[in-house]
Amino acid sequence: MRIAFGCIGHETNTFSPVLTSINSFTDGSYYVDEEIISAFSHTSTITGGFIENANKLGIELAPLLWTFATPSGTVDHKAYQTLKDEFLNRLHDTRDIDGIFLDLHGAMVTEQLEDAEGDLILAVREIVGALPIVTTLDLHANITPKMAENSEVIIGFDTYPHVDCYERGLEAAEIISAIVQGKIHPTMAYRQLPLLTSPPAQCTTKPLMNKILERLYVLEAQPGVLTATLSMGFPFADIHHAGVSILVTTDGDQELAEQHINEFASYIWETRQAFNLNLISVEQAIERVSQTKEKPIILAEGSDNPGGGGPCDGTVILNTLIKNQVKGAVVAVIADPESVELSIQAGVGKNVDLEVGGKTDSLHGNPVSLTGYVKTISDGNFIHKGPMGRGRAGHMGRTVVLEVDGIEIILTEKRIQPYDAEVLRSVGIEPADRELVALKSAVHFRADYASIAHEILEVDTPGVHSPDLFSYDYRKIRRPIYPLDSYTTWQT
Ligand SMILES: [Zn+2]
Repeated sequence: MRIAFGCIGHETNTFSPVLTSINSFTDGSYYVDEEIISAFSHTSTITGGFIENANKLGIELAPLLWTFATPSGTVDHKAYQTLKDEFLNRLHDTRDIDGIFLDLHGAMVTEQLEDAEGDLILAVREIVGALPIVTTLDLHANITPKMAENSEVIIGFDTYPHVDCYERGLEAAEIISAIVQGKIHPTMAYRQLPLLTSPPAQCTTKPLMNKILERLYVLEAQPGVLTATLSMGFPFADIHHAGVSILVTTDGDQELAEQHINEFASYIWETRQAFNLNLISVEQAIERVSQTKEKPIILAEGSDNPGGGGPCDGTVILNTLIKNQVKGAVVAVIADPESVELSIQAGVGKNVDLEVGGKTDSLHGNPVSLTGYVKTISDGNFIHKGPMGRGRAGHMGRTVVLEVDGIEIILTEKRIQPYDAEVLRSVGIEPADRELVALKSAVHFRADYASIAHEILEVDTPGVHSPDLFSYDYRKIRRPIYPLDSYTTWQT
């Protein structure tokens, strides 16, 4: 059995003014042919799990193209078209395959397409005909009818932080192998709810989602059910299909799939009010820090999360920490290539005058004028050691640790979500020893930091990834939708 596989991946934040160019893909993760196998073997990733189980199951692998750009604004349509042509040409030239596995995100938007993955899956369908297409999607996928119609099976991540990618990759190999052998005949039910939720509310280590996940596992264990997915959606892509969707796949029994999905969707709909959030201001968070001797306190700044399209150079927290002289605080990270360059020119052990951050747009705070002491200079390369993507190489670009009045600022060349503590440790900062660690991450950091943190505070700062859904000017999303429209109704 021979299975082709690959990825064109992006999570598009349509509120970000930064257009995602072809370079964002080619300078990021971009692998072809056997490079894909070397990049992902023995990693806790979707494709890593898929490769491992494929080897066990005797599947011959036909790697195509695997590329993923760090989340940012709308994708340049020509860039998408170039990558899609490259992907399809490779698929076209690959002989004697029995199926295809697509490792996609599910929230990519181009200048001309609200549903880029739906477009890609359909194009793949037109080439492979009746061969099975198994697609994995992120928990933040805005799953559209087009994606569902053209995939035999869609498998979504269960967890947020996404710590089950490897397992979903194993599952994808298992399922496609069983389909090709004629052991199963999957049929999928799909539902969309008029429900938008914010990332901090989607976290599966918190009680609400944890309970929902338990119920999803009970559903998956029912006789005849092959797999089920609750996709929480990506609310920062202003497209018609953004929001919560559900999939239930059974072995050939559509009626059973419909029955289960109606029950589960009703349960989620009835739970909708519980997804509303309680956020605090940075000032309130700093007040809490001053009241405790325990450390560290983690400040999660979801609004500038580069993992969801934030510019990663927001200065609201940095500015407040400096003003309040919060010694022992770390800011991870501020992406500012210009300040990195000037710090390197100054050299280790020297002071340097900088305008830090706030250079991408005016939404996330202004540049901060400061004099900093250049403590560390690094090439910014590290290996993930936390539960997310363990084993994968991380690249921050050249990286500098700057000290300002007892506050450490990690300046990077690239935008990087600091969810793995190696971002800090690789530049000589032990987060457990610090009073306060400010992270540009909404939820993923919990996978690696929950065991270190004395307390985690979710702070409300302005930005393109703000957890406050009411702070956005939605234009394209279907209405009514809860909680934007309180009188939203839904029936099975
Ligand atoms: Zn995600």
